[in-house]
Amino acid sequence: MLDQIRETLTAGGRISIDQARHLHEHADDAVLAELAGIVRARYHAPDHCSYLVMAIVNTTNVCVARCDYCAFYRLPGAPDTYTLDFSQIRSRIDELRALGGTLVGFNGGFHPDLPLDHFTDLFGRLRAHYGERVEFYEMTVAEFMWLAKRAKLSYDEAAERFAACGTRWITGGGAEILEDRFRLRHSPAKYKVEDYYDAQRSILDAGMGSTATMVIGFDETLDERLAHLERLRRFQDEEGAGRLSSFLCWTYKASNTELGGDELPLRDYLRWLAICRITLDNIVHIRTSVLTRNADALLGLAYGANDFDLPTEDEVTQKAGATISHDFEHILDSARKLGFEPMHRDPLPVWNEDQAA
Ligand code: SF4
Repeated sequence: MLDQIRETLTAGGRISIDQARHLHEHADDAVLAELAGIVRARYHAPDHCSYLVMAIVNTTNVCVARCDYCAFYRLPGAPDTYTLDFSQIRSRIDELRALGGTLVGFNGGFHPDLPLDHFTDLFGRLRAHYGERVEFYEMTVAEFMWLAKRAKLSYDEAAERFAACGTRWITGGGAEILEDRFRLRHSPAKYKVEDYYDAQRSILDAGMGSTATMVIGFDETLDERLAHLERLRRFQDEEGAGRLSSFLCWTYKASNTELGGDELPLRDYLRWLAICRITLDNIVHIRTSVLTRNADALLGLAYGANDFDLPTEDEVTQKAGATISHDFEHILDSARKLGFEPMHRDPLPVWNEDQAA
């Protein structure tokens, strides 16, 4: 079957989910890297990669979802809860800018007392203050769903509210494994998978951008991982190639979580990254995770990834064991040593009709 898969990919074709399973079970590392390189080359020069410097600013750690893999959240009333105010958020953005950063991803929890208007007001003020100097990933689809439900708004109505205040991106974070059996085991209060895609569709329909993510290394089965890829690929087909601008996969960090466990070995991460690149042939940018694998993440460039962030902070993963280095040159050198020339890029623009032409 390997020869048939190689032939399909070389001719610009698409593999089936059964063939992705076959690759996971039978292809050796070199073959996976080679096949991922074939799909990568449809979009990117083989020896190029891109990056930007960004921060994930956690606006509140109050959350009532109680996901068992999360080390970050605190229940309302706990002594170490916080919610950042506008000036604290501005300070964090200014710290990022001093490090050369151009993108801020905001992330919080399911806070029972912060309504949707709190966030539309915040994002509107931030855009007014920073103009085009910084791009924002204003929140994740999971947070958007929570706020819409709390406000008793349909996803379409909530998305219109966010778009009207100048929100450009509601990204695909909080996805972990998009498979309902997985969600029931670890995160039953968060959402159901089809509900997640309904919300993401409303976000796109309102003219905002979104992305795709996946986290591996919990106790998910291969079937659950493949279901995530199959549904995501179908969603992108339904919405139109390019609508979800990028896909980022990272590994679960287990420290201080109720679920516990060990982090996935690097080799398993790289092999899965290759399978993602091969399978998700309708997503242009595949990002490897420096946040969770540090300079080792650059090995992912040889397994189909073409892009990475240099993160300056993210409390969610740092609480669970991630370490962040601001020695960006060391990380960029790791890419060069592997034969990839890192090119600094601007934050990606939101997809528009012109790009489809
Ligand atoms: S992963 Fe997100 S939704 Fe789940 S408990 Fe943590 S902060 Fe809350």
